[in-house]
Amino acid sequence: MFTPGKPLCTYIFLFVAIAIASCSPKLAPVKNNAAAANATTAAKTKVVKPPYFTTDSIYNVKADSLVGIVKLQQSVMLMDSSGLLAAPSEWVASVNFGIRKANYVIMHYTAQDSVQQTIRTFTLKHTEVSAHYLIGKDGKVYHMVNDYLRSNHAGVGKWGSLTDMNSISLGIEIDNKGNEPFTTAQTKSLILLLAQLKKAYAIPQANFLGHQDFAPKRKVDPGTYFPWKILSENGFGIWRDDVLEPAPENFDYKTALKLIGYDVSDVNAAIVAFKRHFVQTDSTARLSQLDLNVLYNVYQKFTM
Ligand SMILES: [Zn+2]
Repeated sequence: MFTPGKPLCTYIFLFVAIAIASCSPKLAPVKNNAAAANATTAAKTKVVKPPYFTTDSIYNVKADSLVGIVKLQQSVMLMDSSGLLAAPSEWVASVNFGIRKANYVIMHYTAQDSVQQTIRTFTLKHTEVSAHYLIGKDGKVYHMVNDYLRSNHAGVGKWGSLTDMNSISLGIEIDNKGNEPFTTAQTKSLILLLAQLKKAYAIPQANFLGHQDFAPKRKVDPGTYFPWKILSENGFGIWRDDVLEPAPENFDYKTALKLIGYDVSDVNAAIVAFKRHFVQTDSTARLSQLDLNVLYNVYQKFTM
């Protein structure tokens, strides 16, 4: 499930984008001089736009506007509390830089009825949500936001000391209502996609997470049907061992959850998120001895 990022300039920007898009030259049929007699008929022919012509146009206008931000050469203004310049500053361009890359992948289920419904959700400006990728039940992968751009998929949450996950992650939505298994085709496509992303951006295995891990107080996706074990076997995300060492007596489960990365400000929510990911057969907030053993095992994998 997705969470809006609420950028302040979105409405102003998209208004301008739509205005520009609506003023763009329309595709027009090429007139055939030899068929001048049919000009009237040709003029009446309705031109069919590509299926996502309008949203593609808005995307391009918005992407063009970001180039201006990247090219901005302006020194930082260091003001004191009274609003006066408090320290000298100057812009001096370095010649050594590159583009920032994502270091996490956050996976979601859509909780919607169809992949077409989610495409519609992600192409309506008032929803304010998006993801870099969307995978349909047939395994088709829809790439919706360039990997180097920030999509609005993770929202408010915390993992370790990280809070702005949208700025450092790629979001993958998978067409699934949450109460059903993921299809074989989806899992196959997901593994192919993750392999490409992991290689392209050097993403560590432990940094493939679920939305519920990052936002345990708000989210439950990608849920208990998510194929974490299969993904981990392919190098994406951590999974527990089959044979578990017993957790020590007086095992500090709250500290273990925190050291893995969970936000333990609501420890019950953190336990539920952990169990939905690593236990899956039970997602209550109660920690059985088996759950503690799983936690001890996973904690060691994250902190070794
Ligand atoms: Zn989600």
